[in-house]
Amino acid sequence: SSTAPAMAEAAMAARVPPDEDGDECLPQYRHLLSPDLLQGQVAFITGGGSGIGFRIAEIFMRHGCRTVIASRNLQRVAEASKKLVAATGQQCLPLCIDVRQPQTITAAVDEALQEFKRIDILINGAAGNFLCPASALSFNAFKTVIDIDTMGTFNTSKVLFEKYFQDHGGVIVNITATLSYRGQALQVHAGAAKAAIDAMTRHLAVEWGPNNIRVNSLAPGPISGTEGFRRLGGKFAEKSNQFSVIPLQRAGNKTEIAHSALYLASPLSSYVTGTTLVVDGGSWLTSPNSFSALLGIASSSSAKL
Ligand code: NAP
Repeated sequence: SSTAPAMAEAAMAARVPPDEDGDECLPQYRHLLSPDLLQGQVAFITGGGSGIGFRIAEIFMRHGCRTVIASRNLQRVAEASKKLVAATGQQCLPLCIDVRQPQTITAAVDEALQEFKRIDILINGAAGNFLCPASALSFNAFKTVIDIDTMGTFNTSKVLFEKYFQDHGGVIVNITATLSYRGQALQVHAGAAKAAIDAMTRHLAVEWGPNNIRVNSLAPGPISGTEGFRRLGGKFAEKSNQFSVIPLQRAGNKTEIAHSALYLASPLSSYVTGTTLVVDGGSWLTSPNSFSALLGIASSSSAKL
């Protein structure tokens, strides 16, 4: 009957947690998990001033967590922090770091520890990406992505280990991607950088497990309302109906990624370490590696490093 699709849509709407476009907090939030899940804890979130990192900060704060959000643009993290505090009533410390420069991380972690006396969770979310064929990618562009994503994740993890996790334990969640699983076109830089991070996840889980540190990766698929989605042609894919090839028939949203990060950061996953949680609606299994479609986006994109 004609009401069946409408009913399916309503049921779907009830199952998919709502999200807001842009870097705004959710106007309402319905807890699926206990609101005190992260009570008393502190999370250090790189890239926490925008996109997925911003929503992770919000959802963690809605579960009792205090946060540090850190990236290069202090004004951006300061504004994000105001919104997060207003929406959740928790503390949020905005700090300026460049994950390529260990001394800036060290200074930020010192300041965070001075303020909160503890750090329980590290989210490595800082990254840079754009679409570009390998043949047109400059040596420096490739290096820059490796520096921010891969080196940045190592630098931040090592500083947190030395300053706090080594003696107190902790949880690390590395935000990666599924790009390398099938060799996504125009993404050799980001795919290689994220694959190296997934390897790092396993190495560090092995070495730091005895220190009571869990290390996992979270690999999102296409996530609406993010800079990554805009740059990598998400709207284009939406319009041209490319999401119909994704098993769940749609892009994911930031709240869904934040919920998976909440699982990995909380005691819900207390025996989970060294693994990658793919949160992509099944996308990487079925999405075509559509060179020509991607080239269309790449040539109309100004997002070049
Ligand atoms: P985004 O808003 O652009 O987030 C990237 C963040 O990294 C920004 O807040 C940026 O802040 C920060 N950053 C960049 N370079 C930095 C540096 N050198 N030092 C410190 N911070 C730096 O993009 P997003 O789409 O939400 O992506 C968040 C994460 O999810 C990334 O790891 C991305 O690879 C991953 N991901 C996203 C998607 C998606 O569909 N959006 C899919 C798969 C994976 P500043 O400019 O202030 O430094």
